[in-house]
Amino acid sequence: MSLGSFEKQFLHFFLSLGTAAPGNILKEIYNFVSRYFSFLLSGVYLFEGGSLRAITYPEIKQLTLQENIINLLQREKKPVIKKSKDVFITIPFILKETDDVLLLPLEEDNDFLGILYFCYQNTLELNQDYENIFRFIAKYIFLLIKNNYYYVKMEQRLGELITLQIVSDFVNSTLDFEVLLDKTLDAIVGLIGLRTCSITVFKNKLCEEVYTRKQKVLIKTIQSSQEIELNFTKDIYECLAKEKKLSSGVTRVGDRILELLPSLNIKKGEEVQFVIIPISRGDDLFGSINIFDPTLTHLNNIDNNFLQSFANQVSIALQNAQLYRQQEEMAQKDGLTSLYNHAYFQNKLDFLIKEKKLWPLSLIILDIDDFKKVNDVYGHLTGDKVLKKLSDILLSNSREGDLVARYGGEEFAILLPGTDIKAAYSFAERLNKVVANTKIDIEDQKPLNITVSIGVAEYEEGWTKEEFVDKVDQLLYKAKNTGKNRAVAEL
Ligand code: GH3
Ligand code: MG
Ligand code: MG
Repeated sequence: MSLGSFEKQFLHFFLSLGTAAPGNILKEIYNFVSRYFSFLLSGVYLFEGGSLRAITYPEIKQLTLQENIINLLQREKKPVIKKSKDVFITIPFILKETDDVLLLPLEEDNDFLGILYFCYQNTLELNQDYENIFRFIAKYIFLLIKNNYYYVKMEQRLGELITLQIVSDFVNSTLDFEVLLDKTLDAIVGLIGLRTCSITVFKNKLCEEVYTRKQKVLIKTIQSSQEIELNFTKDIYECLAKEKKLSSGVTRVGDRILELLPSLNIKKGEEVQFVIIPISRGDDLFGSINIFDPTLTHLNNIDNNFLQSFANQVSIALQNAQLYRQQEEMAQKDGLTSLYNHAYFQNKLDFLIKEKKLWPLSLIILDIDDFKKVNDVYGHLTGDKVLKKLSDILLSNSREGDLVARYGGEEFAILLPGTDIKAAYSFAERLNKVVANTKIDIEDQKPLNITVSIGVAEYEEGWTKEEFVDKVDQLLYKAKNTGKNRAVAEL
């Protein structure tokens, strides 16, 4: 048979093959070639990412080539004929020791993919035509394997891009910091399929401080979404902060990893595969995504570049959420005292009345006595300092559920949910005493004392918000008119 006519038919057949996996393609090729040439068996050796894959047709027990044969073909880069005893480590039952084996390198431009071989009964005369035909087959098998390799790679990349797009939409769908952390973990679990992960977000984003000092970190885990505070010393984060690149490997589980995955059934001393991906923007390290795999295999299939792109998406979303949170806080707080502002107080009061939440609901409004004098005598800056000091006193004397707000210039409101008038009144009286007894230090002057007048009332069903506030205002007015430095309520 001439190369010309075989080539035509082979090309026709070749184009019909598409992009199936190499195993399937080789079987088709074996079937095709065996229609034209008679050989006992055929096979390939493929080098795939450091490992070797052997495929033999007809399908018999895998054959192993001798090492020196592999080296020879890699060196020679041309077809070689050898006796089967010099080729295989164990000769298959179909062959005799003296049968010939035609070996062809699957190679082009020093890209050595493997070896293709055909075993013949007895001896083989390799004339030029015959050699050309088999070189031609080897060349197309090389192309097929290469194409398939790129196809698989492309499919993988495409899959990753789609996943990244989904992740991006997913994590950018919220500006709520807490929700974002949960969504990120959901994305890792749902889209990447890794259960054993956690996300660490530094409370302080300055990476220098991360590793020169013990820092508190906020950590969320899949298993328990409660926050736990961790102190961490120099460890993997030192490396992350310095290099700002993904770190991976195998490690023995120590206390640190147990802390990262508190409720997982990983025991101390066991080996786990880990990938720690920094969440950073520019020079700032915000935190990390921590993935662990106790089976030591799963993480091998995940592309590090993909994980880093994933973390980059998260870092953008985290930064937006942090900015949003800061802005939201700023909109609720008073600039001088950092207490809640008038607008926030009004909203909260409205909510508590409408929702009938946490009744009985009491309200205290207090006003500094003769504050104009403080300003007149000591100046406005000192006046401001007094306002800040009073804020501290109010905060440190109120309970967790109480809402302390700067109501006006030197007027403060304290909402007391779940508190009746008796309890609210005694709290107000206590405040009177604490304020009056607190000495406020002023530069170059002797310490200053202030007093406050307070109105206190409990909300009565049917009142509007304004009626409630008016009521407390009237009582405050009464306190002012009956000597100041006192609390007034209708008991
Ligand atoms: P009274 O005992 O009747 O309350 O007398 P008062 O002097 O405190 O009178 P009033 O409550 O009407 O005075 C409010 C004063 O508080 C007027 C204003 O200059 C001062 N003030 C309001 N806001 C600020 C502030 O942000 N900083 C300073 N330094 N002073 C303020
Ligand atoms: Mg006032
Ligand atoms: Mg006043």
